[in-house]
Amino acid sequence: MSDPIQYRVEDGLAFLTMDAPPVNSLGQAMRAALLDGLQQAEADDNVDAIVLGSSQRVFCGGADISEFGSPRFLAEPDLFGLLNTIEAASKPVIAAINGFALGGGLELALACDYRFAAPTARLGLPEVNLGLIPGAGGTQRLPRLASVPKALDMITSGKPIDAADALAHGIVDAVAGPDEDFAAAVTAYARTLSSEDAPVRSCNDIDIDPATVPDGFFDDFRAGIARKTQGYPAPEAAIQAIEAAVGQPFAEGLAREQALFFELGETPQARALQHLFFAERGSRKIPGLDPKTARRDINTVGIVGAGTMGAGIAMCFANAGIPVTLVEISDQALERGLGRIRADYDGRVERGRLDADQRDRTVALIEGTTDFQALSHVDLVIEAVFEDLAIKIELFEKLDGVARTGAILATNTSYQDVDRIAAATNRPRDVVGLHFFSPANIMRLLEVVRGAHTADDVLLTALDLGIRLKKVPVVSGVCHGFIGNRMLEPYSREAARLLLEGATPAQVDAALTSFGFAMGIFAVMDLAGIDVFWMARQGRQDTFADDPGYGAIGDALYELGRYGQKTGRGFYRYEGRDRSEDPEVVELAAKIAGKLGIEQREISEQEIIERCVYPLIDEGARILEEGIAYRSGDIDLVWVNGYGFPAWRGGPMQYADEIGARTVLDGMRKYRDSLGDYGQRWFQPSALLQELATDGGRFSR
Ligand code: NAD
Repeated sequence: MSDPIQYRVEDGLAFLTMDAPPVNSLGQAMRAALLDGLQQAEADDNVDAIVLGSSQRVFCGGADISEFGSPRFLAEPDLFGLLNTIEAASKPVIAAINGFALGGGLELALACDYRFAAPTARLGLPEVNLGLIPGAGGTQRLPRLASVPKALDMITSGKPIDAADALAHGIVDAVAGPDEDFAAAVTAYARTLSSEDAPVRSCNDIDIDPATVPDGFFDDFRAGIARKTQGYPAPEAAIQAIEAAVGQPFAEGLAREQALFFELGETPQARALQHLFFAERGSRKIPGLDPKTARRDINTVGIVGAGTMGAGIAMCFANAGIPVTLVEISDQALERGLGRIRADYDGRVERGRLDADQRDRTVALIEGTTDFQALSHVDLVIEAVFEDLAIKIELFEKLDGVARTGAILATNTSYQDVDRIAAATNRPRDVVGLHFFSPANIMRLLEVVRGAHTADDVLLTALDLGIRLKKVPVVSGVCHGFIGNRMLEPYSREAARLLLEGATPAQVDAALTSFGFAMGIFAVMDLAGIDVFWMARQGRQDTFADDPGYGAIGDALYELGRYGQKTGRGFYRYEGRDRSEDPEVVELAAKIAGKLGIEQREISEQEIIERCVYPLIDEGARILEEGIAYRSGDIDLVWVNGYGFPAWRGGPMQYADEIGARTVLDGMRKYRDSLGDYGQRWFQPSALLQELATDGGRFSR
């Protein structure tokens, strides 16, 4: 392996330049090289000051998280000790922050005596996103150099700040001019310090006077972030670590930080968030597919259908700077779609999220037409018309005749068979599913549906495109509902069944939100539309003909015209945005239960959670067995990013790994045996779940 540090001395300055692509991560080799370099410079009488910089576009991306949980993470020199050594150096060390300084990378800079930043540099401590706090002095140095409020904000939010903000808060000492050559500027800065005999500095010498922190300040801050951070222990630990920086010696604060850091490392939340971090990085690796395969160019896009999804997808591309041709069936439908798009951007301008110029430039990228021929020049067409296989097949036949050779033809279908749609063309290799979620310009998930004939380059182009659109792309094979909606089926089926057994919608939703779901399932159904779920059941009656209660409550609401929020009534009643319980729904459920001979009873919160979540996990297991998803992490990404599963639980499969396949299997069997015919019908565990329970195995490998 090449040396992760370049070392040179020039006119009294030692330059320690980190040189480990792509992000100078602080693995053991880098730490050892930094220590060597520092010692060499300290021992060299010709060196007056040390400039610690980077040959990469970033300054330093932080700890090497592939070392987490391995002995290499703490192998000497560990980061905590190394930074204390840098801080104790007898010669001034100047951090030359040319780009991102994140996590351990910023902690490294904070341990230096002086910090000089490029105007484009960004500085942050994003450890909370991995369920941790900074563990190499960040919680102690940042409040000392900046302020307690600034440190609290940066560390509990994990959000990076820009160089100007860092300068304003004393986190950096100087920033290069916008047109200055950074290397020359930092060298000049170091020379000035050196010629002025600038002293070494240490956070050890800075005390935060408790009198500067108003009474109740920490508790107010806690209360302010409580709702957003529910379920996550790291923000609270960050607050406690920063509290320990106030009125206490530096060494004591560091010790408190270390203790909290190691405690957090052992929490299921940290495991869950790190699992998602790696899942996101791994989701574009497709087994058997060469990642170097040349991609197709996507510079222009056509979208067919300007309804809810088509309009959202158009915004998504325009936001990424990609021109869109939006095709509708009539002028009226087109105007409606374009009007919706304009209203969305206008709303953003009104809320101060976008300036009027940006809006105009973005909206100008979307051109509407009713002329299908306008699609003849685009690189990618996405179909977002009604969810009806016959209509989609007819449309793809037409597209085949219009689209240019080599264009990718994508469908946004939620449930239909992508292979049958592809077979309507003479180029099934060019067909792929691009399943966006509503609202498409906001939701991060993108299911990329790989058909039986989808070409490798088409699949890889679709995945890259997902990243360009700032989405989390996940590959799914072809099956009814793909990964996400297929798993939604058992989850929502159980919720609906629980109503017949005596639970109320509000009780079920409360149990699910207390588990950590962003919304309860009945609130979700009311939002998406009870008619949409009713539609999804049509044509599939044979799959649940042996369960007379299946979909019964949804069907009854549908027949009453209670479609959810859009009609003011669904599982709940709505007055504007306010939701309230509706005794009529409870009565309706009791009536259906009576007809079907289902006994109503008190149902515990624990039962609600197990009944909804275990079948969800088991469906995930079947999806893995069938090869519809490549990895359990892909399923987790789908459910966390598309369905509101709590990220701090890591997704359904990670949750199963955490509680153990044995627990899930025992739960499935318990309900199989206690719920009569219904249990026998729906709670038969998958082979994979049984196998993992027997072997003590995990879904995640
Ligand atoms: P929608 O009813 O809001 O919009 C469909 C639009 O397609 C209408 O404006 C209609 O005029 C237009 N259209 C129909 N046939 C056309 C044709 N031949 N040429 C041009 N335009 C045509 O529906 P939607 O909710 O936007 O759903 C569109 C697709 O996206 C469906 O396949 C749906 O399953 C899928 N989807 C929907 C959601 C959701 O939450 N709404 C989420 C993911 C995927």
